[in-house]
Amino acid sequence: MVVAVYPGTFDPLTYGHMDIIERAAALFGRLIVGIYENSSKQPLFPLEQRVELVKEAITGLSNVHVKAFKGLTVDFIHQIGGRVMIRGLRANSDFEREFEMALMNRKLASDIELLCLMTSSQYQFLSSSLIKEVAKLGGCLEGMVPDHVAVALRERFSVTIEVATGKHRM
Ligand code: ADP
Repeated sequence: MVVAVYPGTFDPLTYGHMDIIERAAALFGRLIVGIYENSSKQPLFPLEQRVELVKEAITGLSNVHVKAFKGLTVDFIHQIGGRVMIRGLRANSDFEREFEMALMNRKLASDIELLCLMTSSQYQFLSSSLIKEVAKLGGCLEGMVPDHVAVALRERFSVTIEVATGKHRM
């Protein structure tokens, strides 16, 4: 059975990520969604919550599991007996960075194959950072993230707004 790993920050999970997860899960015996513990992006959501949000979204996919990891992605893939790394590609924005990373990873671990799946057109402009901007400004997130992620975003930003306006001060 070939094990594939889809690594990322998932801050938070979007329907763009879900589309890649579902398509990769149909190709491999087992898919592990690997969530960076030490992301350089300074995530909005703590690690435990990013893991929980993905867990809740994948309940219907029996061969998909989620795990947090530290350190190099290729080391994590080796540890769990994986062979393939999955990444998602949006036109323009992702290719150069993914190509650079792929060449580095090939140097570090030549036995791991990279598989990039092209985004589905409806998710082409969807990114976690854009979602956070929209959520922060109170915009509608329908069709962009699962409902439980939208709820988490609303909670996260309403707390920030309340704290900023001093509502929580004693
Ligand atoms: P990272 O910090 O590794 O970029 P992300 O959570 O931002 O983590 O993204 C994880 C993977 O999902 C990356 O390969 C990214 O290109 C891909 N991805 C993000 N958004 C989309 C989308 N809308 N469609 C397809 N792939 C996407």
